[in-house]
Amino acid sequence: MPKQLKQIYKIIREKGLKLTPARKIMLEIFVNSDYKLLNASQIYDLIKKQSKKTNFSTVYRNLEIFTENEVVEKITYNEETRYKLREQGPQYHLMICTLCHKTKPLPFCPFGELETYIKNDTDFLPIKHHVEIYGYCKKCRQQQED
Ligand SMILES: [Zn+2]
Ligand SMILES: [Zn+2]
Repeated sequence: MPKQLKQIYKIIREKGLKLTPARKIMLEIFVNSDYKLLNASQIYDLIKKQSKKTNFSTVYRNLEIFTENEVVEKITYNEETRYKLREQGPQYHLMICTLCHKTKPLPFCPFGELETYIKNDTDFLPIKHHVEIYGYCKKCRQQQED
């Protein structure tokens, strides 16, 4: 079993969630997708290959539970909601390819200075921010040139 999958199973248990067979397969799909954003029906299609018993509403309900428990994050763009494993650890921002839906975290947060400015020079107290950068990854750009 991949190390990353083991870690996620541990997180699931620590959060007091049951590791049902459907959940196990879903988490495996997320690990194998390499931080690519998948929509609910893509996830459902992948599960069906392994477990005929799982229905769409179970998949959808588990996605909601995973999101609420911060195991998975949900991102909506181009009017479609997609999911990926949430990186554990400090706050981070994502670069998202809108063609292949692969994601990558920004190497650093460029907004620390801005928050300091807001805190010191305005009467507003910032508590969090949320930034996503949309664009095209290298592979997709190369394919478009061909
Ligand atoms: Zn791409
Ligand atoms: Zn930030």
